[in-house]
This record gives sequence, structure tokens and C-alpha cells, in this order.
Amino acid sequence: MPANQITDSYRHQGMRRKLVESLRQKGIVDETVLAALNHVPRHFFFDSSFLEFAYEDKAFPIGSGQTISQPYTVAFQTQLLNPGRGMKILEIGTGSGYQACILAVMGLKVYTIERQKLLFDKTKALLKELNYRVNTYFGDGYLGLKAHAPFDRILITAAAPGIPEALINQLKPGGIMVIPVGAGDIQVMKRIIKISDNETTSETHGTFRFVPMLGEKARDI
Ligand code: SAH
Repeated sequence: MPANQITDSYRHQGMRRKLVESLRQKGIVDETVLAALNHVPRHFFFDSSFLEFAYEDKAFPIGSGQTISQPYTVAFQTQLLNPGRGMKILEIGTGSGYQACILAVMGLKVYTIERQKLLFDKTKALLKELNYRVNTYFGDGYLGLKAHAPFDRILITAAAPGIPEALINQLKPGGIMVIPVGAGDIQVMKRIIKISDNETTSETHGTFRFVPMLGEKARDI
């Protein structure tokens, strides 16, 4: 990464404040979420040739056929999670690492899984360089991360055709999972609350577009 990209200039900070203000206008109300988005320089997660796109409220390609989620979507999912400091969270779909860093600066213990090796290697190196405390794992998110379960929160950042049973099992009673569900172009945002070991409730919160969650047999692009 070129040295200039790692600096967070006044110009970048100004653009970021405007972006955060626009998210507030769009209905994000959780101040801790807005503060986290204001804190993490999104341009650090872009290739240098695309830096000018970092503070638009849009998803953007990050290589390997994947995207960094739209800031509104990151804020919306994080707000739905209602996270608290010190909680243990599992993210499925590390991608650029941006969402994981938002959770880390909010004081969560973040475990994140990425299925594509090239992207995993690139993001792991970036997070180390930027000094964010995020635990990265290469693997299949459908299986979760049994060794570190149970989790207070689980966040899925790719489109899931259904609710993976293994992930529900790895959620603590009282825990919350946020997951975009739908096999087609559009997904419904679901918030699942695990009331007890064998009881869950679910709410829906609008529609979104995500790249698909890859199954066990899917190959890296
Ligand atoms: N959270 C990311 C955006 C994720 S895009 C960010 O902040 O940038 C969705 C990611 O999910 C992609 O990187 C994709 O490779 C990954 N993915 C898809 N299926 C997966 C699976 N089964 N397990 C883990 N990661 C998966």
C-alpha cells in the first residue's frame, strides 16, 4: 500500500463527516455506530486508484468478485446488532475488513471468516498493518467457528439462502444474529433473537442487495 493512502488527511476527515451526516439523514440514529463510522478511514480499505469513491454511500468492488458494503448497509446492520463493549462477535464475510474494524473500534471482540483465500490473505495483512484488533479466519462461514463459540452476536455480510443451523447453535441464549436472507437478487434483512437454546424469534427490516454466500462446494473465483 502506498504511504499516502495510509494517511488520514483533513480532506478525508471532512468527506467522512459529510458521509456520516448523510447516514444520519437516512435514518441511522445510534450515535455509537455513527461515531465508529466517523472514526475508521474507509479509504484505507480501497486500492489507491479508487480512493475518490471511498466516501460515497455506495458499495464498491474490492477484487475477487467481491464488494465492500455500502456505508449505509454497514451502519444499518451494526445498529440492528445493538452491540455492547466487550461482546464477542462472529462476522461471516470479512471482505475488505471494513465492517470488522467498525466493530473492533466499538469495543467488540471480533472473529471474522472469509472464504476466498486471496482476499483473506490481502485483508489479514492490511488489518495487521493498520493495527486493528480483529481475529481473521480462512474458512467456510456456514460452519461458523466452533472453537470460539458461543457468540453474543453473529453478523452475516453475504446473501444467505436460509438461516444456517450451525450459526444459530453458536449463538448464546439472549444473543442476536443479523442476516440478509434470499437466494435471488434481493435479500430481506432479518434480525434473529435467540431467546433460549431451542427458541428464536425473528424480525424483518427491509430489503438489501448482497453478493451471495458461497457454499461448501463453491470454488474461489
Ligand atoms: N463485510 C465485508 C463485505 C463483505 S462482501 C466488508 O466490510 O468489506 C461478502 C464477503 O463474504 C465476500 O468477501 C465473500 O468472499 C465472503 N463469503 C461468501 N461466502 C462465504 C462463506 N461461506 N464463508 C465466509 N465468507 C464468505
